[in-house]
Formats: sequence, C-alpha cells, structure tokens
Amino acid sequence: MAQLFYDSDADLSLLQDKTVAIIGYGSQGHAHALNLKDSGIDVVVGLYEGSRSADKASKDGLEVLNVANASAKADWIMVLLPDEFQKDVYEREIAQHLSPGKVLSFAHGFNIRFGLIKPPAFVDVVMIAPKGPGHTVRWEYQNGQGVPALFAIEQDSSGQARKLAMAYAKGIGGTRAGILETNFKEETETDLFGEQAVLCGGLSELVKAGFETLVDAGYQPELAYFECLHEVKLIVDLMVKGGLTAMRDSISNTAEYGDYVSGPRLITSDTKAEMRKILSDIQDGTFANNFVAECEAGKPEMKKCRDRDASLPIEKVGKSLRSMFSWLKTN
Ligand code: NAD
Ligand code: MG
Repeated sequence: MAQLFYDSDADLSLLQDKTVAIIGYGSQGHAHALNLKDSGIDVVVGLYEGSRSADKASKDGLEVLNVANASAKADWIMVLLPDEFQKDVYEREIAQHLSPGKVLSFAHGFNIRFGLIKPPAFVDVVMIAPKGPGHTVRWEYQNGQGVPALFAIEQDSSGQARKLAMAYAKGIGGTRAGILETNFKEETETDLFGEQAVLCGGLSELVKAGFETLVDAGYQPELAYFECLHEVKLIVDLMVKGGLTAMRDSISNTAEYGDYVSGPRLITSDTKAEMRKILSDIQDGTFANNFVAECEAGKPEMKKCRDRDASLPIEKVGKSLRSMFSWLKTN
C-alpha cells in the first residue's frame, strides 16, 4: 500500500519567508490563494489586465498584480490557469521572472508531461493537485477539513522540493485529509484517462444512451430522467462512502442481481479494449496533440458538441424537472 502523509508529516514554516503568486483566480486559484492566506502565508494573485476575477480577489483581501509582476515578486509561482493557456502565459509573462531558488508549480501535469512548458533547470518544479473542485477545497478548509491531494516532484534544484511541496499541500488543507506522492507522468495520464473513460466521457454517454433507450421504447421522458440521470448521484454517493460492497448492501436484491447479470453485458471485453486504446492515445501524446490543435483552431469541435448536447431532450426534461426541486433551490 502506498503511504499517505498527514499534517504532522509536513512543515508549514518552510513557506513562512516566501511569497506565493497564484496565477489565475478561478476554481482552483481562489481556493489555493485564500487557504494559503488563512494558513498565514504571503499570497499575491497574478491576473491578466482586465480580468473579471481581479475585483473578486481584491474584495477577498488579496493583492492583485499582473502575471509578470506577480511572478517577479514571488518566490513560488503556482500556475492555475486553464491548461490550454498555460504555455502562452508562461512564455510571455512567467519564464523571464524565474531565478535560482524559485519554485514553479502546477495542479495538473499536462503542460510539463507533454513538453509544452520546459522550465529551466535552476527552479524546483512541483505539483500539488487536490482531488476535488476548487470550491470544495475552499469549503472543506473553512470547515476545518481538507480535500485529499496528490503531490509530485519534477525537478528538485533546491534539494528541498519534496518538503516544500508537502508544506504547500498542508497550507491548502490537503494534509488534513491525506496526500499521496506521484509523478507528473502518472498524475497526468491517470487523470486524463479517468475523466475520459469513466467520469466524464463514459458516464455522460451511459446516461444519454440509457435515457434514449427508454424514451425510444415509449416510456415517459420524466421517468427516464429520474432513472438514468437523477439517481446516479444516490448510487455514486453510496460507492464513495463504502465502495461497491456498501452500495450493493443498500440497493434491493433485485437491483443487485440485475447489476451482476446486466453490467457485464454492457462493459464487455470490447469496451475494455477500447479503454486500452484511449489510454494509449493519452500515453503517446495523440490526445494532447489533438486537444492543442482544437484549442488553436478556436475550439470548433467542442462548440459543436456543446451545442448538440445542450439541445438534447434529456437536457430539456431535466431543466424543467429540476426547477421544481426545492432542495436544489435552497442550495
Ligand atoms: P478555471 O477556468 O476555473 O480558472 C482559470 C483562471 O485563469 C480564471 O481566473 C481565468 O480568468 C484566468 N485566466 C484565463 N486565461 C488567462 C490568461 N490568458 N492570463 C491570465 N489569467 C487567465 O481553471 P481551474 O479549473 O481552476 O484549473 C486550473 C488548473 O487546475 C488546471 O491546470 C486544472 O487542470 C487544474 N485542476 C482543476 C481542478 C478543478 O476541479 N477545476 C481540479 C484539479 C486540478
Ligand atoms: Mg481530474
């Protein structure tokens, strides 16, 4: 079993004399900046001129600079921009402000793993990647808890990189829940695979196909929505809390029997063979090249898919049903 590290394993005082620049103030950026600040660390936020997030960061009590000035001022530069903008911003506004002893860090390994960003040898390059959305990272911290995180060392110029990365993970609350060491290659490849094969790609298509099968067979779309989308959360919550076994303890015996006999009819050796192809496209850089090309072209395919899926019957039915859920309104 891999070892997890907790609060007592990490030394926050290593960051006491450092200024951390958080580049980007979105989902992860706001959470890292505010958690570090509440942990007693000096934080500045780096944003492009005219960013809509600037007001928000100032109101949250943070110093806001442009990306170049934040990078110049800081000892530690955490890049929390969308992956597709990181290379450009790094080359234009960050690279020239790196100097020996500084730390360059990321929350996902994409740009380093696929060679889009090539940092100089005289900086430490590390990753601290919370395994949850930024709003949860902030919310848990404020409640005295934390979101588990991965950490990784790509370059250790100072000889301190590992201790520093663990200290940062403590500063954002990660060591309250446990942090696990990985490397940029493993984090990037497993993260991309998980979101494509299971979490986003696999699940969205499964939900859509189930809904369409019921509706095409003449059943009411509202029922199909409840069965194939709404109840996903109930099952996933059970799985997250107690694994497959606890989930199967909670569902009826009828559901459990159906699970065993029908699940393997859907996820077959063909599905697994395709999963291996998806993984190999990730590993050999095919997926990364395609994504970079799509972004450079202005994301035409993504826009097409977004529009297509936004107009699906499941989205229309869902919208009207959800508008009646009182528990969603109060949230
Ligand atoms: P986001 O889209 O929520 O926020 C990005 C921020 O960057 C925004 O403040 C935006 O205004 C700013 N920005 C965009 N273009 C810019 C530019 N050219 N110059 C300066 N600022 C610019 O991004 P996010 O989801 O927080 O992702 C940031 C990083 O964290 C990514 O590497 C992502 O893979 C990683 N990550 C995200 C999550 C998540 O749940 N969202 C979880 C773990 C890791
Ligand atoms: Mg992920």
